[in-house]
Amino acid sequence: MERNCVWDDLIAQTRVADFLSQAATTGTVAHAYLFTGPTGSGKKTAARALACALFCDDDGCGVCSTCHRIRNGTHPDVHVLKPAGAATYMVEQVREVIHDVSLKPVQASHKIYVFEEADRFNAESANAFLKTLEEPPDDVIIVLLTRSFDAVIPTIASRCQVVRFRPVPESVALGVLVERSGATLDDARVALAASDCVISRALDFLQSPVRRRTRDVTIELLKRLSLMDGHDVLLGARTLLSEAKAPVQALKAIQAEELIERKELLGKKSSTKPLEDQHKRDLTAREREGVTEVLSVTESWLRDCLVMSGHAPELVANVDDADAIEEIAAVITPRAAVRALEAVTRTRRRISYNVSPQLAVEAMLFDIQEVLRCPR
Ligand SMILES: [Zn+2]
Repeated sequence: MERNCVWDDLIAQTRVADFLSQAATTGTVAHAYLFTGPTGSGKKTAARALACALFCDDDGCGVCSTCHRIRNGTHPDVHVLKPAGAATYMVEQVREVIHDVSLKPVQASHKIYVFEEADRFNAESANAFLKTLEEPPDDVIIVLLTRSFDAVIPTIASRCQVVRFRPVPESVALGVLVERSGATLDDARVALAASDCVISRALDFLQSPVRRRTRDVTIELLKRLSLMDGHDVLLGARTLLSEAKAPVQALKAIQAEELIERKELLGKKSSTKPLEDQHKRDLTAREREGVTEVLSVTESWLRDCLVMSGHAPELVANVDDADAIEEIAAVITPRAAVRALEAVTRTRRRISYNVSPQLAVEAMLFDIQEVLRCPR
């Protein structure tokens, strides 16, 4: 099927792209969608492509200023939301959105509200949202994103048209990354491993010396872990956490500029509190992303030990560290490697339940250390 360029952003999701682009061209877009699929399968990209297809004069050319602003995240009629509470969407946040939904679009014919982590509505905030979700104004489209359909509150899920995204095969992701970045296959592999196989994040990784350093520090620590005493492990956890926070500084500088600009634009009387609140949320999210990255690197390194111990060196992701991985693989049993990997999964879960990242990472390092010291 003929599709406009903007849908090319969506990798390995032909059916989804056909379905949504057809809805956009034939004027049959639903008022609420639930996009489900693993991290990195392109749910947010698809939501943006849909906005381009609807707002752009050429149905999503991908190059005009409208398309450009949507893809950059700066179009005033595309709202991307994250949970404002520590772990959930709060009622107050939902009420703000409900009010905003009733206003006319600023520039485009429609407004699109994209909710990330739609599984993070609690009973109260879901309840507050139901009526709007069921019958938004004609010019409003709501897109909810989630990794797991089953994790979404049923009263929310049942009011949306469900669109399922498939995992992007690693070989496809690698090919795209090499093509777009010009990186070598080995560098691309390392970047994907540090980015949970999300292509956009891997592209960013390749251009970010700070993120590369975080990865190197994490791997160095893992290599020394079995020889460290308790005090060293605690220090190590602290180092990893401060590495994870490093990219936040760059974001703070961008935010400060944005705030000055907004104040000039609105004059002194208008409140910049909504923007400042948004900034706070973005900082927390960026910090969480940094911690996630430390976990992704740890996970990929342990998985490398596992595949190497199973004599499949061609599957190793951290190719630049193959020698150290081989040494560990020579003594570790697959069962022990799986135990270490489970420690990472546990840590991800703890952090998502709001355990302090410091405590969670400390516990993870002690668990992995125990496995590395007794790798049978
Ligand atoms: Zn365009």
